[in-house]
Amino acid sequence: MRIIKKSKEINSLFNSIRRTGFVPTMGSLHKGHESLIKKSIKQNNITFVSIFINPKQFTNKNDLINYPRRLNDDIKICKKLKVDYLFLPSFKEVYSWKMKMKKYPKIKSIMEHKYRKGHFNGVLKVIEKLSDIIPANKMYLGEKDFQQLKIIEDYFHLNKINTKIIKCKIIRDKNGLALSSRNKLLAKKDLLKAARIINFIKKNILKKKPLNDKIKIVKKYLKDSKINFDYVKNINIKNFEIEKKKTKYSRFFIAFYIKNIRLIDNI
Ligand code: AMP
Repeated sequence: MRIIKKSKEINSLFNSIRRTGFVPTMGSLHKGHESLIKKSIKQNNITFVSIFINPKQFTNKNDLINYPRRLNDDIKICKKLKVDYLFLPSFKEVYSWKMKMKKYPKIKSIMEHKYRKGHFNGVLKVIEKLSDIIPANKMYLGEKDFQQLKIIEDYFHLNKINTKIIKCKIIRDKNGLALSSRNKLLAKKDLLKAARIINFIKKNILKKKPLNDKIKIVKKYLKDSKINFDYVKNINIKNFEIEKKKTKYSRFFIAFYIKNIRLIDNI
């Protein structure tokens, strides 16, 4: 595995390599990230992984300061998985050069865009740069961040960027909780509390009841358990509109807080 810190080293690589996969991450890698990396390695000749904690997508200063950083462990994981190139750019390396302005898609004021003002603008800024530095054939993104995935897909489409997005399913802990780098900031008992919420939702959405009642039950459960939350919504994943029924294309999205750590999931 080669570690690269300068984007100009990557430019020359693209003259000679074929079928590339790219997994952008913010590090503190876990089995969720690993599943994306493994998929890319399987489907491509060459796999790039990037680790860059993008300050522009953080809407809360403390969240950025406290974001888990485990670079030595991350390097070991990437080596073990036989990643070809690990890109570790500095802030300057990503942002200190100008490129032709791309078009940004319109984002509906719902879920993450509503509750984390400016978050997706930051995501698009980094994706704009990273996808230019690493113009891979395929980019691997997790369904854990479904709204982000859809926005990046729209951005590629709008700008005719020829990178196919490969959607990767959510990897969960044995207790049902979706793996997340932010989980590393929580104690075991808090993780179990989070898992109980997810399991409660799973159990409830399977019940034969009007959807509105199910949402009310989940909200009541959260309130009774003194859990703060931003949203609990049934969303159509094709157009990101609220869906009144459970359908093939709908998912139950939630953003909630455990000890001030914000967790998102969809089921
Ligand atoms: P992050 O490092 O949080 O920016 O995540 C990098 C990529 O990994 C994103 O495409 C995420 O959606 C994906 N990812 C994060 N957690 C999981 C998970 N539990 N299962 C699958 N993919 C995930």
